[in-house]
Amino acid sequence: MVDDSKMCVRQVVNRIFNSCTYVLSCGGDTWLVDCGDVDRILPHIKGNVRGVLLTHSHFDHIYGLNHLLALFPGLDILTNESGREGLLSDKLNFSRYHEEPFVLDAPENIKIVNDGAIVSLFEGVSASAVYTPGHSPSCVTWMVNDMIFTGDSYIPGIKTVVSFPHSDKELAASSEAMIKRLARQCHIYPGHETLLSKDIKL
Ligand SMILES: [Zn+2]
Repeated sequence: MVDDSKMCVRQVVNRIFNSCTYVLSCGGDTWLVDCGDVDRILPHIKGNVRGVLLTHSHFDHIYGLNHLLALFPGLDILTNESGREGLLSDKLNFSRYHEEPFVLDAPENIKIVNDGAIVSLFEGVSASAVYTPGHSPSCVTWMVNDMIFTGDSYIPGIKTVVSFPHSDKELAASSEAMIKRLARQCHIYPGHETLLSKDIKL
């Protein structure tokens, strides 16, 4: 747990592929980074969920969103244009090839963020969106204070997966290099739990 300007950050490891959801709370407000199993996330939520910062729209990072929206219908889902397309297509988010196809119920809750956009999360705490395409064109890395949420664009110790239909190996390499530069003074919070990420102090 990190106590950073009274903000509390928790890691929740989801059932599907050990993807990670991060719960950022301050006062009575919460933001999530990605959304898997809502039953595992809920115990860490006090008050309202204002939004979800998406690292990308592969289904293992988004499959809890409809459940979450049923509980918090006003929340914003922040992503790029490619992420919006993935949220609305079980083919693009690959859930079609798994047990339960997922398509977002509420496209009106999607908010497109530009590369470099700054989003206010809590009083005195903002998130910066950095486009990091390669693993998927929908990849956005989020920087919040001295934390960097990399999704699947950079998982320390793991080779970035570029074998998906819309992956781009060269873009992934330049995104990874950029993240490593940005992350020099930061704690890295990756999109999947690995043996390495267990060492991250939360
Ligand atoms: Zn992925």
